[in-house]
Amino acid sequence: PTRRSSDLNKNMNYFVTGAAGFIGSNYVRWLLANSDHSVTVFDKLTYAGNLENIRDLVDAPDGRCKFIQGDICDRDAVEAALPGHDIVVHFAAESHVDRSIEDPYAFVHTNVFGTNVLCDVARRSDIERFVHISTDETYGSIDVGSFHESDRLVPRSPYSAAKAGSDLIALSYVTTYGLPVVVTRCSNNYGPYQFPEKLIPLFTTNLLDGHKVPLYGDGGNIRDWIHVEDHNRAVQVVLEHGEIGEVYNIGAHNEITNREITYRLLELCGRDESFIEPVADRLGHDRRYSVDIDRISALGWKLARDFETGLAETVEWYKARRDWWEPLKARISR
Ligand code: NAD
Repeated sequence: PTRRSSDLNKNMNYFVTGAAGFIGSNYVRWLLANSDHSVTVFDKLTYAGNLENIRDLVDAPDGRCKFIQGDICDRDAVEAALPGHDIVVHFAAESHVDRSIEDPYAFVHTNVFGTNVLCDVARRSDIERFVHISTDETYGSIDVGSFHESDRLVPRSPYSAAKAGSDLIALSYVTTYGLPVVVTRCSNNYGPYQFPEKLIPLFTTNLLDGHKVPLYGDGGNIRDWIHVEDHNRAVQVVLEHGEIGEVYNIGAHNEITNREITYRLLELCGRDESFIEPVADRLGHDRRYSVDIDRISALGWKLARDFETGLAETVEWYKARRDWWEPLKARISR
């Protein structure tokens, strides 16, 4: 593909899927505050999607953020909504590993089939960039060292396998149809508006409510945690400066065990270790994720938030926003 745009940072019309969820809503909030672009959010509003995450943006008098409720697997709905936009940023996915172990079908359907629908409609529309948002989990677990973008994908859960499938579909559209795709693979995100079934918001809100926190296995699983805003700034760098057809790892070099995170959260929430409840390990639980970030760093991206500051801010956000998480918590089992 030779199609390139020199003006990707000027007044574009964005189509952002899954932006009623955690990372996408933070992305749109950040994008609108830091650019003149306008955005259409396209989201099915599954259990993980929440219009409250973006209501103030959609209601803002400047009219720069529109919301369409729709399913990326519904070709007619995507065809009616996507054409006319310049940029696609594709966050929509089933995203919770534990749920993928319970019900893999929804993951394969949304993540693989849905991504194909989106790519297919996008390639028939005049799109300048298509950013496919993926995860470090597609590489699988690594004991020592870090994965590079060219490493083999060895996903080990239905979630990560379905994400790996979606990466390959999106990349195949570059070669086959010239769709200007770039792919990002990021490590574990934390920050505001994260659905309270994921580790950091689940543990924080449990502790704030005086409930125990379920720690898997020996607590020794290692993840590389990155603040959602650092991830989203990296997504924008890849969008504006990345090579079409390339994959960019995003990570923070902040590898930490689940047990260590738990202790930090206990401290930030003023609880002791009697609040830890060890539970049976997740099936096929990956031990460690780690990605090499030389390629994204070479584009000029740097981490802005260290983990200690970011985690403390995040806990403060959950302390202040009971109005946001209490209704969600009531809908899921603890
Ligand atoms: P999330 O579950 O909070 O949000 C997903 C959003 O997608 C929800 O708003 C949901 O309603 C929407 N959605 C689901 N199925 C849809 C469909 N068929 N059509 C339209 N919308 C649909 O997830 P998240 O944590 O914000 O993750 C967003 C993306 O980033 C995902 O692609 C995920 O794989 C990727 N990612 C997440 C992390 C992480 O740590 N959370 C790390 C790396 C990559």
